[in-house]
Amino acid sequence: MNVRERGAKAVLKQANLTYNLNQFRKLHPGPITAVVKADAYGHGLEHVIPALNSVDAFAVATIEEALELRALTSKHRIILLEGVFNDEELAVALTQQFDLVVHQEYQIAMVMALPDTKSLNVWLKVDTGMGRLGFTPSQAKHHIKRMMTRAQLSLHLMSHMAQSDQPLAIQTQQQQKHNEWIKSLGLPYSFSNTAAVLNRLSDANEWVRIGIGLFGVSPLVGTSGQDFGLKPVMQLQSKIIATKVVDKGCGIGYGAQYVTTREQRIGVVGIGYADGYPWFKKASLQARIAGHYCDVLGRVSMDMLVVDLSEVPEIEAGEDVVLWGEELPVENLAMALDMIPYVLICGISKRVKYRVNQ
Ligand SMILES: *Cc1c(COP(=O)(O)O)cnc(C)c1O
Repeated sequence: MNVRERGAKAVLKQANLTYNLNQFRKLHPGPITAVVKADAYGHGLEHVIPALNSVDAFAVATIEEALELRALTSKHRIILLEGVFNDEELAVALTQQFDLVVHQEYQIAMVMALPDTKSLNVWLKVDTGMGRLGFTPSQAKHHIKRMMTRAQLSLHLMSHMAQSDQPLAIQTQQQQKHNEWIKSLGLPYSFSNTAAVLNRLSDANEWVRIGIGLFGVSPLVGTSGQDFGLKPVMQLQSKIIATKVVDKGCGIGYGAQYVTTREQRIGVVGIGYADGYPWFKKASLQARIAGHYCDVLGRVSMDMLVVDLSEVPEIEAGEDVVLWGEELPVENLAMALDMIPYVLICGISKRVKYRVNQ
């Protein structure tokens, strides 16, 4: 077989995005914000946005991400999750009609100083126990009062859960109490990420913020998106670029972390840690090749990794190799490595080609 190309590819099933969004519509009657920061969790903004046309808003982390997104959609609300950091960014946000999170005094001062003619959607961030961005509930009370005096600021409230993957945790219960207080203020509010929605912690009327779940990936350890009726959007794959039979006692790759115990047929796959496949010290990972699960042998290199082909003599160079996807959930890979799947999907590098299937 002619190999033809190295083959490192992220194949995206666009239809699965729409499908997953519809699954979340069934779980949540209120508005849905699609969180597409970090280039849509490594999927590529331009590939993702057309399939998410029916969301109620988008959210991103940086002004650059917001501008890239605005070029793809002129009509959607775009929420800047960390707000703006200077007057230039504020001016851009006004022109482009971005929604701003405000979480520090300096950001409140910036929006309070705006002339009456400049209207703005503002999300005041309340730290209900996440220990990250936001004001304490009592500080928030004070700031809400101040900001309500400015009619051009359309005020919303946002909080974030630290353990929405642990619905029974004491911290979750405490944060839910603060959320009750936020709800009582009569302003639009947003509390929940994917894990909170999957764990039924979300409020029916809130603006949920769904990131990883839209990509068909579960944030709950020990589960995969498929357990919640979600379909993975990304399949990471490459090709076998070489096969060979090596002698017994042969070290495979750097540090000879795997040594053959018999004469063994191996395949070299054109993908490595510089493409975004994780480097690891010790884990028994597998790749899926022509319907078979094959062990990854030894250490992952920058550009290549080695798989065991001893049980599948018919597999030759040029064959497709799936590193994660429908039949090899990225959640399982993350769990085997004591990582979170977010890091894996966000870590796809520029060298990997994207192919979009409708
Ligand atoms: C990234 C992010 C989300 C989305 O989280 P997922 O776990 O991917 O659903 C929601 N809210 C905030 C503030 C975030 O930063």
